[in-house]
Amino acid sequence: MSLASFAYPQLPDLIGNTPLMLLRQASKLTGCTILGKAEFLNPGGSVKDRTALGIIRDAEARGLLKPGATIVEGTAGNTGIGLTLIANALGYRSVVVMPQSQSREKIELLDLYGADLRLVQPTTYDDPNHYIHTAERLTEKLNESEPNGAFWARQFDNTANARIHETTTGEEIWQQTEGKIDAFICAVGTGGTLAGVSSALKKHNPNVTIGIADPQGSSLYNYYTSGELKGEGRSLAEGIGISLITENLRQAQVDKAYQISDAEALPFIFDLLRYEGLCLGGSSAVNIAGAVRLAKELGPGHTIVTMLCDYGDRYKSRLYNPIFLKNMGLPSPDWKVN
Ligand code: PMP
Repeated sequence: MSLASFAYPQLPDLIGNTPLMLLRQASKLTGCTILGKAEFLNPGGSVKDRTALGIIRDAEARGLLKPGATIVEGTAGNTGIGLTLIANALGYRSVVVMPQSQSREKIELLDLYGADLRLVQPTTYDDPNHYIHTAERLTEKLNESEPNGAFWARQFDNTANARIHETTTGEEIWQQTEGKIDAFICAVGTGGTLAGVSSALKKHNPNVTIGIADPQGSSLYNYYTSGELKGEGRSLAEGIGISLITENLRQAQVDKAYQISDAEALPFIFDLLRYEGLCLGGSSAVNIAGAVRLAKELGPGHTIVTMLCDYGDRYKSRLYNPIFLKNMGLPSPDWKVN
């Protein structure tokens, strides 16, 4: 048999089609069936592999990506990780612009995977040195110097992001629940997941309730409850919480909003590890806390789906570091079995 056969999967084929898992503790607590989409099983370890692949395939279809082109992106880390692995597999180069404030583990992974990593000072979106604006300027510069051109992935406003979640994540959830789903809830980084999944589910059944779980410090809870785009404080969870309405988020159909503090979210993440053997990142904790709030509002017997966005090992020095938690003024639970 020829080894050149293309019947075998390659890296892009491993993205998506993740299982929908029963979250035992959250379900028991609420009398609902709370399910988590196991996005940490994607090859780059996060939900953002889907976004990276969706944006690349869309750009290829539009003729915006020449072979060997450089793909530039501003990212909290996970999109950069997915983009770098996929770029390697498809013959592109990747340049990742990331705020220095992100976890050491994500920086180390990007280095390991061979990304051209540009760390910038964390700052607000209105500052021209914000990582998103830096990525845009860098793309313009590289477009002149790189022989195969440069392409800015633009995950916040490039709606190929929401579209891949509509056609894959949302459809998978509908199929996996056999349409027996009452609600979906997740936090927002770019809004791609929330917009895409809400579009797919509402198309099948307009009565599915869509919720947003917004971490403290993000502006979206206030936006959806009072129209005011403002937030106070901060959250331990990386990759979620924003103070702008992106082109992707604009497409989200939101029925309910919940503000989730770290103190409310964290116990879920340690219980998942302690009792269910799942080691996940902070955004999954915010999502599960949001699912529990929504379940309590709907009452027992409902089926609610949320996202398990990434692995916890990339937050070992933070979320799973008792000293770091103490410095943040948070309790540090004992998750050791003995
Ligand atoms: N969780 C994590 C860990 C992330 O990195 C991101 C994306 N930045 C999200 C959740 C949110 O996903 P989205 O961009 O689709 O809103």
